[in-house]
Amino acid sequence: MSVDPHFQRVALIGFGLIGGSIARAAKRQGLAGEIVTTARSEKTRARVLELGIVDRVVATNAEAVKDADLVILCIPVGACGPVAQEIAAHLKPGAVISDVGSVKGAIVRDMAPHLPETVHFVPAHPVAGTEHSGPDSGFAELFINRWCILTPPEGTDAEATAHLRAFWAAMGARVEVMTPDHHDLVLAITSHLPHLIAYTIVGTADELAQVTESEVIKFSAGGFRDFTRIAASDPTMWRDVFLANKDAVLEMLGTFTEDLAKLTRAIRRGDGEALFDHFTRTRAIRRGIVEIGQDSAAADFGRQHGQLDKKP
Ligand code: NAP
Repeated sequence: MSVDPHFQRVALIGFGLIGGSIARAAKRQGLAGEIVTTARSEKTRARVLELGIVDRVVATNAEAVKDADLVILCIPVGACGPVAQEIAAHLKPGAVISDVGSVKGAIVRDMAPHLPETVHFVPAHPVAGTEHSGPDSGFAELFINRWCILTPPEGTDAEATAHLRAFWAAMGARVEVMTPDHHDLVLAITSHLPHLIAYTIVGTADELAQVTESEVIKFSAGGFRDFTRIAASDPTMWRDVFLANKDAVLEMLGTFTEDLAKLTRAIRRGDGEALFDHFTRTRAIRRGIVEIGQDSAAADFGRQHGQLDKKP
């Protein structure tokens, strides 16, 4: 039986890339009777009002959640605990309380103790994003064909989970349910470690740029450019991710370091076969990702190339 994805009143705390995309998608799909939002700064709240996407913009988190049937915290992971404490007394009994944080164990640990038993806590993580932030960065299509992982703590009302699942599915997401710990381990390798590597390599290249002047930028299409997109991701968000998912990231970093040592040894020994085998395996992984529709098959991420219009 299909579950109704609608909520009468939806409160979004935080209106950046993710909050702004939820507002746009929910509006487009008619998923909320009313959308109320707030953000930390007056500047963002004024901009949200100007954009005219939501029904009401209010000044405080407490005001935003009043009478809301669905509350989604779309703020950095580190801010979720204090905000849960702040809104707890103002939540409507029976409401679904969720978030979009990229780490789940810390969210459950920091938010759950503050929430009253009368509400249903269903943490969520839409595995979708860009390197942009702020109220203008969101778009309604962000979640289409992307995963949204729900991590309801044990004993959560199944109907509340199904309702939130239907809401995300109606915005185009593919929804999966798992435990917070499993989520954190999977995301440590698929998202957190790649970001750490990008932050490292771009920082290292920046130091080299002092030596080579602007050659790092000039020849960046040789691979470096793709790391710079990831390394341009929001510093607050990613600081919080690494602090909140420390154990899983350190575990994956250990495995990564061992694998890097193996490749280093292969290069040092001139072991072409080991390098070739490794690169063949990774190429198959890329093809698999394209096959299941998680990225475009277009060469070079679909970047446009110039035209050769005149013969010399
Ligand atoms: P963002 O664009 O920087 O927006 C963050 C929003 O949170 C802003 O509206 C900000 O208000 C507000 N905010 C910050 N602290 C607050 C507080 N204490 N109380 C109320 N509002 C507060 O960030 P985002 O990219 O949407 O990320 C939000 C969450 O989504 C993070 O937890 C992140 O882990 C998760 N996430 C991000 C991505 C991604 O690719 N970006 C993907 C999946 C999940 P001001 O503008 O007034 O400061």
